[in-house]
Amino acid sequence: MGEAVAETVGERFRELYGAEPEGVWAAPGRVNLIGEHTDYNDGFVMPFALPHTAVAAVSRRDDGILRLHSADIAAGPVELRVADLAPGSDKAWTAYPSGVVWALREAGHELTGADVHLASTVPSGAGLSSSAALEVVVALALNDLYSLGLRGWQLARLCQRAENVYVGAPVGIMDQTASACCEAGHALFLDTRDLSQRQIPFDLAAEGMRLLVVDTRVKHSHSEGEYGKRRAGCEKGAALLGVDALRDVPYADLDAALERLGDEEEIRRLVRHIVTENERVERVVSLLESGDTRAIGPVLVEGHASLRDDFRISCPELDLVVDTALAAGALGARMTGGGFGGSAIVLVEAADVEPVTRAVRDAFAAAGFKTPRTFEAVPSAGARRAG
Ligand code: ADP
Ligand code: MG
Repeated sequence: MGEAVAETVGERFRELYGAEPEGVWAAPGRVNLIGEHTDYNDGFVMPFALPHTAVAAVSRRDDGILRLHSADIAAGPVELRVADLAPGSDKAWTAYPSGVVWALREAGHELTGADVHLASTVPSGAGLSSSAALEVVVALALNDLYSLGLRGWQLARLCQRAENVYVGAPVGIMDQTASACCEAGHALFLDTRDLSQRQIPFDLAAEGMRLLVVDTRVKHSHSEGEYGKRRAGCEKGAALLGVDALRDVPYADLDAALERLGDEEEIRRLVRHIVTENERVERVVSLLESGDTRAIGPVLVEGHASLRDDFRISCPELDLVVDTALAAGALGARMTGGGFGGSAIVLVEAADVEPVTRAVRDAFAAAGFKTPRTFEAVPSAGARRAG
C-alpha cells in the first residue's frame, strides 16, 4: 500500500468527520498456499499476505459513540452506541468492525468510541479474506490508539471471535492470523492449535516464478451450508476416532483410522483430506526450506484433487482453472479458500504468465463462464500502521 492511499483515506476522514484522523492503518487480504479446511481441525495452514489491503483512518472518541464509514459502500457514516453492541444485532458490513469493538470490550478492554473511515482493495467475496482485513485493520488501530498492548496473534483471536459470535460466521483462525502476522517475502507456516508460527521465505520472483490468483468471480449460493456440513463431518470423524481434533490423527496412522471408520464413507473422505492435507503443508514447508521451490507444484495439484474428490468443495469453474493452467504448462495449481467458487492459485514460470492467463481466459469464454480476474500475488506485509 502506497502513501497515496493513506492520504486519500485521511482526506476523506477529514471531510466526513471534520478533523484529522489520529492515524492510518493497513491490513491485507491473504491467499492460502496450502492447508485448506485444516484450520478448524487444529491443523496446519500456510497463507501469505496480498498487496491488497483494507486501510482505515481512525480517531478515538470519549462519548461512547462508534461511527463507521466505508468508501466502498454508498451510504453515509453509520452511528452506533458502543454499549449497545450485541451479537446478531447487525447484518450489514458494519458488523465486522463493530464486532471487533464488541470483542475487545468483552475481553475487558475499555473502549469509549471511535470514528472510522476505511477503504479496501481486497476483492470482496473472492475467498481472499476481505472480511478479515476489515476486522484486523480496525483491531490494530484500536490496539494502538487505546494502548492495549495486544500481540498480532491475540488480535487475530479477538477478530475471529468477532466473526464467529458477532457476525455469526463459523470461520477458523487462519484468515485473521494471516492478515495480522504475515511478513513480506514470506509465507506463514501456522499451527492453528497453539498459533505457533514460522515465517518461511517465499520469494518466487527471485527464482523466476510467479504465483497467479485467478478469481472465478462466482460464489455458489450453497457454500455456507456446505461449509457447516464439512465442519460437522470433521467433528464427527474426530469423535468416532476418539481424538480432540483430526489434527491428532498422524499421517502414518491414516489407513488404520480409515479402517476404524468402517462404512462411514463420507466421514472417511473428510478425514482422509484433513490428514493428507496436513502432511502436504509439512511437505511444502520442507521443500521451500530446502530451496526446492518448483517441487511444490505437484503438491498443490494433489491438494486440489483431495479438495475436489475427497472434501468435495470444488466446482466446475475452479476445476477448469486448474486443468487448463496445468495443460498450458503451469507448475502447479489448486483452488484456495473455502470452495464452491472464489479463487484458485497457479504457480508458473515467469515466462508462462501470459500464455497460462490467456489459456484460462479462453477456456472460461468457451465454457460460457464469467471472465475471470487474474493477478500476480506477491507475498506482502501483514497489518501495520500506515500513517
Ligand atoms: P471474503 O472474506 O472472502 O472476501 P466474506 O463474505 O467473508 O468474503 O466477507 C465479505 C464481506 O465483508 C462483504 O459482504 C462486506 O460485508 C464486507 N466487506 C469487505 N470489504 C468491504 C469494504 N471495503 N467495505 C465494507 N464492507 C466490506
Ligand atoms: Mg471472509
